[in-house]
This record gives sequence, structure tokens and C-alpha cells, in this order.
Amino acid sequence: MVRPVPSDLSREAINQLQAEGLSELLATILPGHGFYQRKYHEAGLSVSRLRFPRDLEQLPFTTKAELLAAQLAVPPHGNLLTFPFQHYTRMHQTSGTSGRPLRWYDTQESWELLLECWREKFRIAGIDSNDRLFFPFSFGPFLGFWSAFEAGVRHGCLCLPGGGMSSVARLRFLLDNQVSIVFCTPTYAIRLVEVATQEGIKLQNSSVRALIVAGEPGGSIPATRQRIETGWGARVFDHNGMTETGPLGFECIEAPGGLHLLEAACWPEVIEPTSGRALAPGEEGELVITSFRRVASPLIRYRTGDLVRIDPQPCACGRALVRLDGGIRGRVDDMLLIRGNNVHPSTLQMILHRFEQVAEYLIEVDTRSALTSLCVRVEPTPTYDRALLKEQLEQTLRSELLFRVEVEIVEPGSLARAEMKAKRVVRKS
Ligand SMILES: [Zn+2]
Repeated sequence: MVRPVPSDLSREAINQLQAEGLSELLATILPGHGFYQRKYHEAGLSVSRLRFPRDLEQLPFTTKAELLAAQLAVPPHGNLLTFPFQHYTRMHQTSGTSGRPLRWYDTQESWELLLECWREKFRIAGIDSNDRLFFPFSFGPFLGFWSAFEAGVRHGCLCLPGGGMSSVARLRFLLDNQVSIVFCTPTYAIRLVEVATQEGIKLQNSSVRALIVAGEPGGSIPATRQRIETGWGARVFDHNGMTETGPLGFECIEAPGGLHLLEAACWPEVIEPTSGRALAPGEEGELVITSFRRVASPLIRYRTGDLVRIDPQPCACGRALVRLDGGIRGRVDDMLLIRGNNVHPSTLQMILHRFEQVAEYLIEVDTRSALTSLCVRVEPTPTYDRALLKEQLEQTLRSELLFRVEVEIVEPGSLARAEMKAKRVVRKS
């Protein structure tokens, strides 16, 4: 029986739970865990002498590159497991968009923990057994929707898989089955609105009352969020989880546009990406996670690559949990450097999605000449004045980014649409 992952604890209770969780984790996994045992031995650390959380910062960070190298050296699992391999019942893997996919394994017990994380989120979003949950995506090896689907079943909801279907078929299925909650990426939520419009379907009249979106920034970007909420006539809940960390980030009802972390299952830190220095609440940096409850495949001070900012103000919902203002604001390695200016792709999305005439876009970064340039290819909605849109977008981008961005208007329907994460940045080098 897995313990619950409550979200309504006091700060004192969270601190105590985290301190105990860290000590228990290290006592359980060391000295039997091949990867961490070697890592700490090489760092000259005697972990049994350390006290947590006081000494946590003495432990070195863990990176995805290290985990991948471990799996390459000792395939398939790379000594990243706490228990004998035959105890594991689940394998999922990362999308591999930035290299080789990382395989991640769960035992029945660690999987149950992930389901508990989801169930707490369902309670917070007011989802109960009257709800019909729809998962319009191909059930590949990504962890997210598998865990949400099973948690929905466990929660008593009717759960409807949507793999192997076209977007039109998914929309018909959704209407026929009177779905109330949809799980997808922000990009695909917008895509379904576009297809519905082409098919003459009014999603605002459907029984869908909420969408839980994840997989990329967007759920906490105001213009993207508004576009989804208007198109569906339903509430957006942003969500965050990684294959390696499990589903940890959720949006409360009272404060849209941010993510609380389920600290009963993790220890979050925010660091300056270059130096590794700890940052104070309010400063933007990289999220580092210690997943002390997923003992079968633990992460200790794992650099997620996600850029976040902890809200220094208490949340309107009254929860003591850390809240990431603006959700996941971007990725450390996605940052664009354009003539001395740092730009997140999500900042461009924030601007472009404010224009309802922008149906889709693609960012092209050209580093072939001495001066890196940025071009945005924009696909307009069919009825719009193209010259006017180009002028309006170039002016707005220039005034908000403080440098020139070329906008090229392309034919409607010419840019690719994604079912999962959108690939909206292309680099020419
Ligand atoms: Zn809140």
C-alpha cells in the first residue's frame, strides 16, 4: 500500500517529510545502487556521515548525459536500479528529441506512487467518478499519459484511449462519448480546435469542461492558454512531469498560470545553470529535483533542464507548496542568442499567440553569417490580410524584443502540425 501524496501540508510538515525522505532514500539505496555508489565514491563522499537536508548541497548534481552514458555502458538499464531487474514491471523512455532516449524503469510500488501523484491532482482539479477522461494521443513509450490513464481508472473515472485515430475521428469520438476532461499537449489542443472549425464542429458546445495540458510550455503562457480556453470553452490546467521525475507539477484552481510541486514526493532546488549556485525565490534558473519517494529509480539532485522561477509570494489557494510562477518557462538548452539578446522560444510564443490571425508558426535561427538572424514563418488564418499581418507582427516583435525579427507569411496549411510536442525552432548553421 503506497502512502498518499498530500498537497495540503503545512510548511513544517513538508520540511520534515522531505528531510526524512532524503535520509530514508539514501539509507535504502546505498551501498547497493551501482550508479550512485560509484558517483559518490568518486567524489570522495562518505554519505553515511552526512545529515539531510543540511548537507544535501555536498552531493554532486546528476545530469541526463551521465544517465545516458551509464545506459550505454551497461545496457539496457545502466546500473540505475535500486532493486534486482526482475522486480521491475514498467519501462518508459524520454522522447529523445535532444539525443538518445533515456530508458526509465518502475517497480509496481514506484508506479503506484506516480498514480497517487496523479490522483492528488485529480482531487485538486475537482475530477471525480462522474468524469469521462479522454487521451487523444498515440500510446507510445512516453510515461505521461499511461500514468494519467491508469490513475484515472484507479480514481473511478471512465477512461477513453485515443490512439491510432485521426484528429477528425478523435473529435467525433469525443463528442459521441460525452467526454468531460481532455489530456494533451497545448499544441494539440490548439490543433483540435483548428480541425473542429474546418469540420464545422463547435467545441464550445461540447461536454468538455477542462483540459489538462503538458509536455511543453503553453499551459502557463497567457496567450496560448486563452486560445485553448476560448476554442474549447473549457478551463485549462497546466501540468508538468518528466519520465525521469514522474508527474510532480500541478496548477491549483485559484491561481492559473503557475505550477505547484508535490513536495511530499520531491525536493526541488533552483540553480544558476552555469555556476550551479543556489538561487533565491523570485530568480529564474534551472529546476533540480530529488525524487526521494520513487525509490526503485531515484534521482538525486537531477538537473531537469527546465527554466523556472519560484513565486516568492504565498499562493491564493493557501497551499504551502512551492509554486513555479509561469510554469516551465523554457529549457536551458533552448535559449536563443540573437545578436547579444537571450530569447526563450516561449517568449516568442507568448507574443505570436496573442494574434488570433496566427494559425501556426516556425522560428528559423540562422547562424551562417557573423550576425545571427531570426526569421519567423507565420501561417495565417485563411481570411486574413497577409501584408497587414506581416507589418503588425514585425512591429510588435521589434518593440517587445528590442531587435529586428523578419516575418514571412506562408501559405495556409503549409506548416507541420504536431500531435505531441511541437518542433517550432529550426537552426541553420
Ligand atoms: Zn495555489
